[in-house]
Order: sequence, then structure tokens, then C-alpha cells
Amino acid sequence: MSKILIIEDEMTIVDLISFNLKREGFEVDAAYDGVSGLEKALSGWADLILLDVMLPGMNGFDLLQKLRQESDVPVIMVTAREEERDKVLGLETGADDYMTKPFSVKELVARIKANTRRRAGENRQGGSRMSFGPYIVDTGLQEIRRADTSVELTQREYDLVCYFLTSAGRVVSREELMEKVWGYEYYGDLRAVDVAMRRLREKLEEDPANPKYFITKRGAGYYLQK
Ligand code: CA
Repeated sequence: MSKILIIEDEMTIVDLISFNLKREGFEVDAAYDGVSGLEKALSGWADLILLDVMLPGMNGFDLLQKLRQESDVPVIMVTAREEERDKVLGLETGADDYMTKPFSVKELVARIKANTRRRAGENRQGGSRMSFGPYIVDTGLQEIRRADTSVELTQREYDLVCYFLTSAGRVVSREELMEKVWGYEYYGDLRAVDVAMRRLREKLEEDPANPKYFITKRGAGYYLQK
């Protein structure tokens, strides 16, 4: 069963989400301000966090930035309005997904399931090794190393690398990445793919502006050049 932490100051929304998630079989906890929200988030209890942007104490972006220094728990940012720059800022700060209020319970549950699915497979035994450029990917440890040093990646970034490795140099469209790596077909925002690719390049490319491994095929998508 997945444990969901809701960080949200509007009690009626917390009650509504909480009621529906429990009915779907999730365990739910809530925090009503940024400071206690960060504390609960850092405790490691949650499998996924729903994070409101406008919070008393500390806003959602600041909270996420602090959280990401210690944790790669999946985070879905929630905001009251459709704000382009909020969306981009949220994704750049390390949110895995983004939702605008009001949203349907069905959509929320679909996104939570998509964003927690990978956790279930995390304790898999065994695994194999793949490589590209100077990197070794160990699918048993779910880790990417360069020389003997582990590279700090979020789970999504790691999943992206693995998807490219198993795509054998093929050009992969953003739609396909959204469906296969993010795990849903209808709700995704394709810019999330571009933001994730940029962050991945910043971590794995020597010169992110002139990538050697994660190459853009204009108008088509991305591919991995080993
Ligand atoms: Ca709020």
C-alpha cells in the first residue's frame, strides 16, 4: 500500500483528497503548513507527496528545494491556478509532476499510481549492467557510476537513462517517453520531458549545451548515442 503525504493548508481540500485516497486504499497523512510539511516529508514515511504551492510558513518551491537536498521521494506539485512559470519552476526544482486545482479524483489517483509504480519495483533482486560513454548502469543497485563514483540522479532521471539504454539508439519521441517513463498517456505535459532531459544533461554531459550522449533529433525526440 502506498503512503501519501498531503501538504496543503486548505482543510476542505485535505479532507476531500484524503477521503478519496483512503477509499482507493492509500494510507494518508497531512501537514497544513510548510514547516511541519517539510519535517514530515523528511521523515521518509511517504511514498509520494502532494505539495501545494501557496502554504503558510514556507512555500512549496522552497520546501521542495530543501527536500531535494536529502530525498528523491516522488512529489506532485499542486497549484490553484494555471501558471506557466509556476509549472516550469516546480519541475526545475525537482517536482515529478504537476497538477492544477481543481482536478478530478480520477486524475489524481492516475497520477499517484503512475508516480509510485516505480517504487514497487525498487527492491528487485539481481539486475544487470549496461554502459554508455564513461558510465556504468547497475540495474540491481539502481545506480549509475562514473569511475567509482555514484552519480546523483532522481528516480525519474535514472528511469530515463534506462529507457534510452533499452531503446538501442532509436530516436524516442517525447510522447513515448511521457507514456513509458512517466507512465500515463493522457495527463502529461510534454515540457516535463524537456525539463527532465535538460537536468539529465546537466548531470551527465561534460558540456550540456553540446551533448555527446543524450542527443536531440529536431522535431522527432531524443536518442542516446553510446
Ligand atoms: Ca494553499
